[in-house]
Amino acid sequence: MTTNVTSSLKEKDEKYVWHAMRKYNPDATMITEKADGVWITDIDGKKYIDGQAGLWCVNAGYGRKELAEIAYKQLMEMPYYPLSHSHIPAIELSEKLNEWLGGDYVIFYSNSGSEANETAFKIARQYYQQIGEPNRYKIISRYRAYHGSTIATMAAGGQNQRSYKYEPLATGFLHVSPPDCYRSPFPDDGTCCEEAAAEFDRLINWEIPETVAAVIMEPIITGGGILVPHDNYMKKVQEICQKHGVLLISDEVINGFGRTGKPFGFMNYDVQPDIITMAKGITSGYLPLSATAVKREIYEAFKSEETYGHFRHVNTFGGNPAACALAIRNLEIMEEEKLIDNSRNLGEWLFEELKQLLAHPNVGDVRGKGLLAGIEFVKDKESKEPLEEGKVAQIVADCKENGVIVGKTSDTVNGYNNIITLSPPLSISKDELQMVVETIKNAVAKL
Ligand code: PMP
Repeated sequence: MTTNVTSSLKEKDEKYVWHAMRKYNPDATMITEKADGVWITDIDGKKYIDGQAGLWCVNAGYGRKELAEIAYKQLMEMPYYPLSHSHIPAIELSEKLNEWLGGDYVIFYSNSGSEANETAFKIARQYYQQIGEPNRYKIISRYRAYHGSTIATMAAGGQNQRSYKYEPLATGFLHVSPPDCYRSPFPDDGTCCEEAAAEFDRLINWEIPETVAAVIMEPIITGGGILVPHDNYMKKVQEICQKHGVLLISDEVINGFGRTGKPFGFMNYDVQPDIITMAKGITSGYLPLSATAVKREIYEAFKSEETYGHFRHVNTFGGNPAACALAIRNLEIMEEEKLIDNSRNLGEWLFEELKQLLAHPNVGDVRGKGLLAGIEFVKDKESKEPLEEGKVAQIVADCKENGVIVGKTSDTVNGYNNIITLSPPLSISKDELQMVVETIKNAVAKL
């Protein structure tokens, strides 16, 4: 675009658009115009590899004409009807999701990850009313977790820097320590995740098990710093939940749809959650859609004659037919192109490469799974004090300057954004990923 058009758009953007998430900084705004594969192009014609897949969501990559076409076809045939009745794309998508989930689930649709989690909380609470345990309402999650931006999902989240200005939040949400092997409050003898799991047991006992409805967790905490637990952690948590009759909700909003090298994150850990929430990658971000998958026996409890049975939860746009039709094709593309295998295999190569960064004095930790990675920067490895935010921002800016978008998140203990994140489209090629890795390595070398 000409310089005049570009600057006029930037002026209007600054005047009218309230940007999500980041501090006010018009100079940092990139106005995007086109996208194809893993590449995005801004209005000045500069191209970048999107190492963050938008907001961790464009799993199948950009520029998939057939996704646009299938949505168009559905919009022409029947653009909308509420899911208080039904339509063919919702039925077919629900069947397909069951294949992916490896269990017997009934699916409730909404539009965003936050709504999917809110829906899960309401289902968990009403479920216990349905089965005659009305005192169970508490929901436990972990510090550093992120589960959404609404009042209840912020309460479930454990990043208080994000939420303290919006208090009071919803009540009935409690937190335990995350499985954080790098900054564990527990002894550094290989048992940190066992200890972290045991906190659930202690908290549930202290709170009285008959008052606790559910535990919500991402298998791998993402926005809170890419925290990969030991392999037996999630199973241990599920055993504790089962012992106390507490439901396990797996937040798969980012972990799901191949990001960690498996269809869903929980599949890395040999568990089968009671409720599974998903969004983002379900449509690869092409249209808004989210889902709350609920084990059949939980759903069946809502049919009880004695209690006021139905789930009083309306969602006008949830399960939009075009979004559902698109989601089905999106999942088929992932199957046909073996994008989950790509995530797993390229992920193995990625970590071999990124671990080389540990030789740098400011790189404290490299962690992740599949095509989900975090690099934590510290002032020195001994103290693990987070590296100044400005220096980490400089790495992100350097990568962008050199055509690679990476994310940045915080350790949230100190609130410093000292972790660089990577979650590219799962369709990325090895050459493209190599460019990402080289760009990061070069930027880190300049520290
Ligand atoms: N859960 C997790 C793990 C997330 O990362 C997010 C969003 N980044 C959400 C829930 C909320 O999703 P949304 O922004 O679509 O409401």
